[in-house]
Amino acid sequence: EVIKDIIDQAKSADRTYLMEHESKAILEELGISTTGSVVARTEEEAVEIFKSLASPVALKVLSPDVVHKSDAGGVKLHLNEENDVRRAYRDIVSSFQGKPVEGISVQKMAPTGIEAIVGVANDPTFGPVLMFGLGGVFVEVLKDVSFRSIPITRSDAQEMIEEIRGYSLLKGSRGHSADIEALKDLLMRISDFVNLEPRIWEMDLNPVFLYPHGCTVVDARIILG
Ligand code: ADP
Ligand code: MG
Repeated sequence: EVIKDIIDQAKSADRTYLMEHESKAILEELGISTTGSVVARTEEEAVEIFKSLASPVALKVLSPDVVHKSDAGGVKLHLNEENDVRRAYRDIVSSFQGKPVEGISVQKMAPTGIEAIVGVANDPTFGPVLMFGLGGVFVEVLKDVSFRSIPITRSDAQEMIEEIRGYSLLKGSRGHSADIEALKDLLMRISDFVNLEPRIWEMDLNPVFLYPHGCTVVDARIILG
């Protein structure tokens, strides 16, 4: 099974941090939509993947030593031309020289959506806890997040969403600007997964883009216990 293989492989390499491509492969297995993450190991591979995706792409460094990829130039966005992809590939490789780089992730650019975050943390008292909030200034400055102990019910998921101060932003002015049912599906799937897989210690889906129809995970990392 895909999920077990990814976790076992990391464990046997003595890694507790699952890189973006590994974390997203697990999410896809759970039926969660992501922007994907195909791994290129050469510049030519990156170009081939770019052509096969037939879309503007993002390139990102994949390294067991790099948690915040956009620090130090590990994320390149809005690449529309083959030459942009080549330059971005080379720039990332040269920025991370001397670090163990697993490869470079090539993925579709997601259309702009409302930025949200979904997290799992481990609380000494409550055990695994699910967190939801809106991204950027909402979480960093306003600390506008909601928490529930895992496992959650579907009505817990609804409450978590309604409880944040930014909820009006999700409702929009005319009907829904974010697909609340799709967001509840995502929260439930993460909760159910963590409930059954005790080796998951932390998860950080940041950002998740919310759309009027559906939502997609743009970046993910998982920490094993
Ligand atoms: P970091 O490890 O620094 O958190 P991210 O993968 O989250 O790296 O990328 C940084 C930012 O770049 C994201 O918060 C998002 O705004 C943007 N971004 C990354 N990947 C994509 C993508 N595939 N489509 C659209 N925007 C993206
Ligand atoms: Mg991120």
